[in-house]
Amino acid sequence: MYKILGKTLAVAVLSMLASLLISFAFVPLMGGQVAGAGLVMTIVCPIVISIPASLVHFYRGEKLRSTNAALAAARDELTEAYTRLQHQARRDALTGLLNRATFIAELGSASQAGARGGLLFLDVDHFKSVNDRFGHATGDEALERVGSTLSALTSEGDLVGRLGGEEFAIFLHGASPERMLDHSQAVREAVRAIELLSPTGHRVPLGISIGAFHCAPRFDPAEALAASDRNLYRAKSAGRNTVVA
Ligand code: GH3
Ligand code: MG
Ligand code: MG
Repeated sequence: MYKILGKTLAVAVLSMLASLLISFAFVPLMGGQVAGAGLVMTIVCPIVISIPASLVHFYRGEKLRSTNAALAAARDELTEAYTRLQHQARRDALTGLLNRATFIAELGSASQAGARGGLLFLDVDHFKSVNDRFGHATGDEALERVGSTLSALTSEGDLVGRLGGEEFAIFLHGASPERMLDHSQAVREAVRAIELLSPTGHRVPLGISIGAFHCAPRFDPAEALAASDRNLYRAKSAGRNTVVA
């Protein structure tokens, strides 16, 4: 408010000075004299006209500036929310890994780009009994720990997703069949080594079965997933906590 009043006052003074300057410059040229009532009007008129005009002008300017600032803040908030939503739409809420739809879409993109690599289909062993023995919350914690274990072992460019329930998938971008097998064994051992305690202090035993399938360039994502799923089924039949490629 003080800023508006100050600027209004400055405009009033400048208007008055300009009015005096113009009057003293031109009135004598026209044969007249700036004095008496004429002088008073020269001083009063610009003040009376400029004060309300400036007040309205500066007030509107201030209002526009604060509206612009509010709009910019709202735009930033929306951009942030959009980015957050985009991230959430791609991610599984519990583990933060890619969700099923995104994993499959990214696998399709990798195939179209001519990538080769190892596709791993993973399923936590006897997970129903983890829930039954230790409770659903501990089951959730176990899934989070499995998810972070899988993430920690993969490199940039690889895909790690939770396909649903206690099923996960990994695509090792560019991996040879040998690296795919080594990686699968490392994941299996790392899940086995997870130290998770239930609320009652019991160690929660975790194991994972892995079906692996090596994808050649231009592989069919659906066929590759089905092949790795078949190998996962074999791993389960072979007694679990094992890898079949
Ligand atoms: P298998 O070794 O043959 O894979 O046996 P399993 O018990 O792991 O498999 P099953 O399909 O019988 O059970 C999967 C269980 O996973 C059942 C379901 O309640 C549980 N589950 C699925 N999603 C979640 C989840 O988000 N949180 C928790 N805590 N449990 C889940
Ligand atoms: Mg399952
Ligand atoms: Mg299971």
